[in-house]
Amino acid sequence: MYGYNIFHEDIINNLIENIRDGKCANAYIFEGEKGLAKHEAARLFAHALVCDDEKHAPCCECRSCIESKAGTNPDIITVGKEKDKTTIGVEGIRNMLTDAMNKPFYARRKVYILEDGGIITPQAQNAFLKMFEEPPEYLVFIIVCEHEEQLLETIRSRAVRVKFQRVSDDIVRNYIENKYPDETRVDFLVKYCSGIPYAADEIIAREDFETMREEVLSLVPKLLSKNKIHAFEAAEYFEKNKDTADEAYDMILMYLRDALVTSMGSPENVVNSDKRDKINILASSYTPQKLMKAADEIVFAKKMIERHIKAAATALHAGLKI
Ligand SMILES: [Zn+2]
Repeated sequence: MYGYNIFHEDIINNLIENIRDGKCANAYIFEGEKGLAKHEAARLFAHALVCDDEKHAPCCECRSCIESKAGTNPDIITVGKEKDKTTIGVEGIRNMLTDAMNKPFYARRKVYILEDGGIITPQAQNAFLKMFEEPPEYLVFIIVCEHEEQLLETIRSRAVRVKFQRVSDDIVRNYIENKYPDETRVDFLVKYCSGIPYAADEIIAREDFETMREEVLSLVPKLLSKNKIHAFEAAEYFEKNKDTADEAYDMILMYLRDALVTSMGSPENVVNSDKRDKINILASSYTPQKLMKAADEIVFAKKMIERHIKAAATALHAGLKI
């Protein structure tokens, strides 16, 4: 869309229509999970906001548009965390607001994209509220965040809230097929990413992903086994791989779910579609009750990890209980 990677065309079209109608707010919140191209959407929206030709924004021809596309428009300012800091504090916000009082260089508007609303401290958010008192007309803030609750209600209620939901499997598939024409795991990736297109980038970039998946999935029959000695083998794996225990449990849960949907007659809903043979064996070897019980124990193990119980202990506990 206008050369930007956008997964929510309806939302952006709507926002752009409003600009063309001369309707524009001083603050927007782009909320949604990681991996949905919210930042790219914010860049396109900012681009349209500063275009010289309001009725046809973004015209893609004016000086402002050309600079926006190149990422060099001085009237679009991206605000992230400062060097060596993990948050944006009062000082950072005050500096931004002081700068915001200077008129745009040459565009009609001046747009600040706050890359991560979740790292703005509550005190800094309070300082930010000053902006809403008498904002200059040219000023627009786009706050990108994962959860709206990360922002104070006083900010939320004064901004236009734009919610980015997970997208359809077709959009994810399109993204993967265009970007990775040689990828052979497309069906699996589409299901695994579950509506978050950029999740595919992370998986494809990880060389160890398939090895991990193989190893983790091979633990499932061990956890389900009546022979409890196998529970110790699962625990051994988690002892060696404690840092990725949470992800490993997610993989196990998906695999158990695959076996369940297969035994209930909906094999088309399987996520690990490249492991159908093994899933069929699981589905025919264990009752749905047993698979569900296993899933419950894995959910419990995940909770234990959150409470800092050793990963190996959680796996052993799950293996003995299932
Ligand atoms: Zn333009």
